[in-house]
Amino acid sequence: MQLTVLGTRSGMPAEGQPSSGYLVEAGTAGRLLLDCGPGITTALSAVTPVESLDAVVISHMHADHCYDLLPLGKALLHARAARVLAETTLEPMQALTALDASAPGVPLYVPVGGRAVLDRLAALFPVATFPLLDRAFDIAFDVREYEPGAAFTVGDCAVSLHPGRHTAPNCGARIASPLGTLSYTGDTGLAEGLRGLADGVDLLLAEATLDATDHGPHGHLSATDAGRIAAENGVGELVLTHFATGDPAVLHRRRAAAAAVFTGPVHIARPGLRLPVAARAPLSRP
Ligand SMILES: [Zn+2]
Repeated sequence: MQLTVLGTRSGMPAEGQPSSGYLVEAGTAGRLLLDCGPGITTALSAVTPVESLDAVVISHMHADHCYDLLPLGKALLHARAARVLAETTLEPMQALTALDASAPGVPLYVPVGGRAVLDRLAALFPVATFPLLDRAFDIAFDVREYEPGAAFTVGDCAVSLHPGRHTAPNCGARIASPLGTLSYTGDTGLAEGLRGLADGVDLLLAEATLDATDHGPHGHLSATDAGRIAAENGVGELVLTHFATGDPAVLHRRRAAAAAVFTGPVHIARPGLRLPVAARAPLSRP
């Protein structure tokens, strides 16, 4: 199992770094994209063909976690048109009208209500001459709305979705494969659901947006919060992400804060970082 960090920034992409997006690969059957913020489609295409995805899981419908789904859908449609082109004598633009719209799309899991948001997004940019390009969410994806607590499989992976505490409904994703187990928080403050999300995972990818614990209604974690969650749940290693800055001094302090309460390895996520995730015996808990 392997985690590839595509983007780590919170609301505002900056310094050439995309917002939230992570590729999880579990062997040949189970390639998942977790979140798809601004810049993620471009970053994803640099490491794997977009059509190789087996599923996309969106933690919540904030722009920094889902705004690039429309470009990703169009890239998937283009990949289908390229296959048509390779098999026919059609002109490139004709291939866009000849692709098989009935073939299954990539499963795209969004919170309940997410489908309507995506349809509104797509409707903002009509392409009257090639109507198929307006139907990314009908053709390129198989959009599936999920409730908190939902569970499903992607290839060899068992995926479960655990509610957090955020100003938009958010679920963290736990991905268990024969090769290892990884969980991703999405955006959340401290919440009961984090226990089921993080319990005994080999790698916890946790947001660490804030300097201090958030007791307000918005819902984010500090690095200390993330470290405590990792320690209390017997996590193997911790990756901190979702930063409002790329300042090395700030990121160093984030890592130190988590390492002060969690004795396992602590990594700072950065675009391009690849980490193997191997199944291991859980650490002893405090
Ligand atoms: Zn958010």
